[in-house]
Amino acid sequence: TKWVYNFGAEANEGRAGMRNLLGGKGANLAEMASIGLPVPPGFTITTEVCTAFNSAGRQYPTDLQAQVAEALARVEAAVGLTFGDPAKPLLVSVRSGARVSMPGMMDTVLNLGLNDETVRGLVSASGDARFAWDSYRRFIQMFGSVVLGVDHHRFEEIIEQAKIDAGVIEDTALTALQWQEVVEAYQTLVETETGKPFPQSPQDQLWRAIGAVFGSWMNTRAITYRRLHDIPADWGTAVNVQAMVFGNMGADCATGVCFTRDPSTGEDVFYGEFLVNAQGEDVVAGIRTPQPLSAARSKPGEVSMEQALPEAYAELLKVRETLEQHYKDMQDIEFTVQSNKLYMLQTRNGKRTASAALRIAVEMAESGLITRDEALMRVNPAALDQLLHPMLNPDAPRTLLSRGLPASPGAASGIVVFSADEAEMRAQKGEAVILVRVETSPEDIHGMHAARGILTTRGGMTSHAAVVARGMGRPCVSGAGGVAVDYGKQTLSAGGRSVRAGEAITIDGATGEVFIGYVAMIEPKVSGHFGTMMGWADDVRTLKVRSNAETPLDAETAKRFGAEGIGLCRTEHMFFDPERIGAVRQMIMAGDEDGRRLAVEKLLPFQRGDFISLFRIMAGLPVTIRLLDPPLHEFLPHGDQELAEIAGVLGVDFATIQRRAGELSEANPMLGHRGCRLGITYPEIYEMQARAIFEAAIAIAVETGAAPVPEIMIPLVGTPRELEITRKLVDDAAAAVFAVHGRTIEYQVGTMIELPRAALLADKIAKSADFFSFGTNDLTQTVYGLSRDDAGKFLPKYVESGIYDKDPFVTLDRDGVGLLVQMAADKGRATKPGLKLGICGEHGGDPASIAFCQEAGLDYVSCSPYRVPVARLAAAQAAI
Ligand code: PEP
Ligand code: MG
Repeated sequence: TKWVYNFGAEANEGRAGMRNLLGGKGANLAEMASIGLPVPPGFTITTEVCTAFNSAGRQYPTDLQAQVAEALARVEAAVGLTFGDPAKPLLVSVRSGARVSMPGMMDTVLNLGLNDETVRGLVSASGDARFAWDSYRRFIQMFGSVVLGVDHHRFEEIIEQAKIDAGVIEDTALTALQWQEVVEAYQTLVETETGKPFPQSPQDQLWRAIGAVFGSWMNTRAITYRRLHDIPADWGTAVNVQAMVFGNMGADCATGVCFTRDPSTGEDVFYGEFLVNAQGEDVVAGIRTPQPLSAARSKPGEVSMEQALPEAYAELLKVRETLEQHYKDMQDIEFTVQSNKLYMLQTRNGKRTASAALRIAVEMAESGLITRDEALMRVNPAALDQLLHPMLNPDAPRTLLSRGLPASPGAASGIVVFSADEAEMRAQKGEAVILVRVETSPEDIHGMHAARGILTTRGGMTSHAAVVARGMGRPCVSGAGGVAVDYGKQTLSAGGRSVRAGEAITIDGATGEVFIGYVAMIEPKVSGHFGTMMGWADDVRTLKVRSNAETPLDAETAKRFGAEGIGLCRTEHMFFDPERIGAVRQMIMAGDEDGRRLAVEKLLPFQRGDFISLFRIMAGLPVTIRLLDPPLHEFLPHGDQELAEIAGVLGVDFATIQRRAGELSEANPMLGHRGCRLGITYPEIYEMQARAIFEAAIAIAVETGAAPVPEIMIPLVGTPRELEITRKLVDDAAAAVFAVHGRTIEYQVGTMIELPRAALLADKIAKSADFFSFGTNDLTQTVYGLSRDDAGKFLPKYVESGIYDKDPFVTLDRDGVGLLVQMAADKGRATKPGLKLGICGEHGGDPASIAFCQEAGLDYVSCSPYRVPVARLAAAQAAI
């Protein structure tokens, strides 16, 4: 088997399409080298080795060693240096690279190959002793922490002490001799911590570093990240071994990271940071403040790369253009300049916020770089969620505390916490928290995920906090240098004000502002690039998108987001209003039909009013109204005291009310007296609701001159006969209303398919149905025999351990539930070819489930108002 692939120096065995085997980094290094970009030579050990290594108890395939030796010899020949040569040593970097980038999760070792002998070779070869000893100490530090497991703070402490002793502030001010002393202190530290001297053999160093990268695939941080991002464990990581180039060899050297467009807003500007005379991690570590790339974007006091290294900058601008034209997407680049010459160390599709994703895709399509269909496929529908949440109300009063960098847009308010664990703990209790850290590291991921927003006081736009927050869609303000954080006292302070843990702040990740307390927010709009993209989505999609809504507010939101009708109005939600719950309870308590009719009469005007406002808002769009579904006891309170109060209000004695509550209570209410079973046993309820719908429709017809076409939906049907009976109830109510008003309107009667039996008998049920709407919440519950209300106790375990692929209440289970949906759709249409089909379970807003709905031939999906744009885009992607 071929385990090792060469890249650079005219021997590129990989290409961008081989990321599964070579990981993203390795595949793109080979691709960049093959399109003529300056890539230092190296080789990639494949992801298959990782899988083999971890499953064989950390054993390599037998022929790996020989392949690595051969590849290393090629690199030596290409650069004219020899690994381990005391006079002119080849140094290499060893980096991980999985299929998808996992920021901060996996580890990097630079300057590998240095030891007490070769460091002297580096001194004479480079003519720069300071550089050589600095490189050696970096190597010991990285190797020591990544491979040998020595806490990296211990190394930092030694440097801090060295700087204090030397009376300097910047690392770069330490002399060769001082770095040499740091190296000695590091070696002593390693020996005390590990019980062994720092390894001197370059071959030994290389193999231990490779092993550490492969082993780190199984570390907790990596496992957590994979869980959060749905990355299978068997993908593995590749290892890239590459000849070193040095950004820390003097003032004509630098290292930097950049995005070909602004990853926060998507604006078409070159966006990045660099540091002169620095290496790798310095830029993201936030120890020195990185400088901007372009002179135009530099602020007073900053020295841009354009000014400091004009030749290399001009070269980098060309690379930016080449990469975007080649990859046809925004790239995230790492580069190093050694003695004024530019080298590319990495490129990948850049992580971006949802609004940046929209803008980049729209602008690339408008400039002809990609097609509209490609643009539509570029944006993750689920990420739109970020844009659909409140923003700061520009008119709201606020008290500015400080300012940082606008690292990830969106506004968030919450109470201040200073540790990731506390963020997670408080969020689990339902509290909104803002995680405040000096800087974040991969150990904080769980807390960042749990927080509403993140504030850091150190680090730039490419710091760990910024990159991870953007990926997660969390608002983030980074590098707020004016804020002092005191973990010990649990306070943050700026400009003479301080905020304690547990007190609220608000951050605006779009402007970088930090405010004291809560600031009022406003609803977002679908406009600009978002609006353009939605327009393109609407042009290509064939699935209609409706919304589940019952209040006027929900209906208005849904319409604003582009809903093409209401797919589910759950009428029971209208019963809880304080004005009417009394009548509802009176209806429930009534001992006979006459009593119930009296109570139901009181509800009629309320219901009619509800439907009038829905029809008015939806202005001619279809509105599906579902008749009462839940078991009646849901409308009764549970405590004796509340029951006694109701007895008082209704004028019945407590014993009666207690007895009735007892009669109504059910051991298994979700399978009990609910849905059409209620409508059949208490027909006056459905009659009243149907009458209210028809009277409302006629009122709107009179008001506007255009009659709405109500779609009346019967829940929980399991036999054809149930639908026949309830349909007749509705038809009779229609006839009665039409007779009174002397006019008729069009309407439809349909049913939910939410019980397995309904799906099995769909051909027969279709005879009395004008439409089906799949209630995949109940259908999932009944197909799995899994309680919607109680499954939370074990479902996460099931998903974690892979017994269920996904939470079946979130993503439709194609294998089981989907089979029934498909069967019911086919059977229904066999009886009635044009039968309208929709879905109104939660799955209607889930992109993967929407793709299924497209395949199953449904006409529309219906989802909660805030997911309507998500569904519009997902439906477009399903159609492409
Ligand atoms: C369903 O069961 O999928 C449905 C939409 O109805 P409800 O969630 O109200 O039971
Ligand atoms: Mg249901």
